[in-house]
Amino acid sequence: MADLADKRKLYIDGAWVDPAQPNDLEVIDPTTEEPVAVISIGGQADTDRAVAAAKAAFPAWSATPSAERLKHVERILEIYKRRNDDIAAAMTTEMGAPTDMSREDQAGSGSFHIETFIDSFKDFEFIRPLGDHAPTSMVAWEPIGVVGLVTPWNWPMNQVTLKVIPAILAGNTVVLKPSEIAPLSSMVFAEVLDEAGLPKGVFNLVNGDGPGVGTQLSTHPDVEMISFTGSTRAGIAITKAAADTVKKVALELGGKGANIVFADADEKAVERGTRHVFYNSGQSCNAPTRMLVERGAYDKAIEAARKVAEETRVGSAHEAGKHIGPVVSKQQWDKIQDLIQQGIDEGARLVAGGPGLPEGVNRGYFVRPTVFADVTNDMTIARQEIFGPVLSIIPFDTEEEAVRIANDTIYGLTNYVQTQDGARRNRLARQLRSGMVEMNGVSRGRGSAFGGVKASGRAREGGVWGLEEFMDSKQISGWDQDA
Ligand code: NAD
Repeated sequence: MADLADKRKLYIDGAWVDPAQPNDLEVIDPTTEEPVAVISIGGQADTDRAVAAAKAAFPAWSATPSAERLKHVERILEIYKRRNDDIAAAMTTEMGAPTDMSREDQAGSGSFHIETFIDSFKDFEFIRPLGDHAPTSMVAWEPIGVVGLVTPWNWPMNQVTLKVIPAILAGNTVVLKPSEIAPLSSMVFAEVLDEAGLPKGVFNLVNGDGPGVGTQLSTHPDVEMISFTGSTRAGIAITKAAADTVKKVALELGGKGANIVFADADEKAVERGTRHVFYNSGQSCNAPTRMLVERGAYDKAIEAARKVAEETRVGSAHEAGKHIGPVVSKQQWDKIQDLIQQGIDEGARLVAGGPGLPEGVNRGYFVRPTVFADVTNDMTIARQEIFGPVLSIIPFDTEEEAVRIANDTIYGLTNYVQTQDGARRNRLARQLRSGMVEMNGVSRGRGSAFGGVKASGRAREGGVWGLEEFMDSKQISGWDQDA
């Protein structure tokens, strides 16, 4: 116990403070299964104190010229980049992202988002004419007020920067509740904002769990918006909890993306798709976990996926290299094991991996990269988000059938298409019911938004849409154009 890092303080009103009541929670390193730090689980008094600080800071911050808010965020970016390796190390320890991946992708996603928000904000017009037909009508974009931000453990800084940065750029003040499983990177992020010299109360961090601080923020009468990323289960609970105080609720939830591979797909399509499923140990909401393969290319695809699974090294998050690390917790490990077993029991063909720890491993929450073939879309592994390195391969015969299977899910985050036929790609891009469609391995362009439809939630994060998400539009008439 002696060498556990003491991270019990909360960041409220510009200072690190003790919680009103001690309530310790250990943060576990998923590679070693050892506790590494102690945080506080905040309570109602802490939530109230943070919301009061944010509310008090709102009038001045929202009236601050936008150029000045931009300067604060530019300073945040500079300090974030300097602290990049500290942020990455925290994520390696709290959620098991291997060191290289954590530095480049996990921490790197944060600076990327801060940079792209700075770009979008520079061009943002806070007040715009409605159109030539109505010369005195204007649309003004205004901050919402105190915003509660609740984030998950799988991409900690990605999610935190996608919320905190646009929210404060827009002129809101915020209370962040990061995942209690992976809170350490957010605490370094709070140090970054502290050093950047934001006015006190603009940014507050209260550690806590869902039933506690998460629910307190969702029901708080002085919180006007909740932006949430996490499970569909919690998204539904938050929406209900927020109803009585009529908050704006923005949800980024789970996914069960289809990756439609036609027989004319490029040679690397299956390998690329399989690697994407295993990336971050399968803990990404946009992972293309259902690979739909045209019958003529089916056997070859299974072999290619098996090869990737067998070549994917699983190892300590504390080692450099291109391997994948553990999954985040014992609870997630157990859930993934149950789902793999269910895949076998329901008759899917296990091609690689399977239940249990990888060979030679007896400690840490490691999962074997797993591939199932002959999956049907009604099997549990095709319907539930597994959030582990598990790929399900489903055959199809026609384009119509592929679209039908892809859309036959409660989710609608990202779908993927692999074909050399441009007309077919364009057709499918419009027919797939999801917030995003990525084709032939081309990533979405800088400045595009991230978000879904259906049970994946309907928030839009990133780019200009991610700024507007944290604002209300006000419709004005009788505006004097000459004043
Ligand atoms: P989770 O829903 O258990 O927890 C997420 C956050 O919500 C945590 O901070 C948690 O404390 C809090 N929370 C839990 N219950 C709550 C409640 N009733 N009220 C208020 N807050 C509550 O999810 P998780 O296990 O941390 O994250 C994994 C999930 O997140 C996956 O389903 C994944 O697909 C999803 N996810 C979605 C996106 C996206 O952008 N669509 C991105 C990343 C992760």
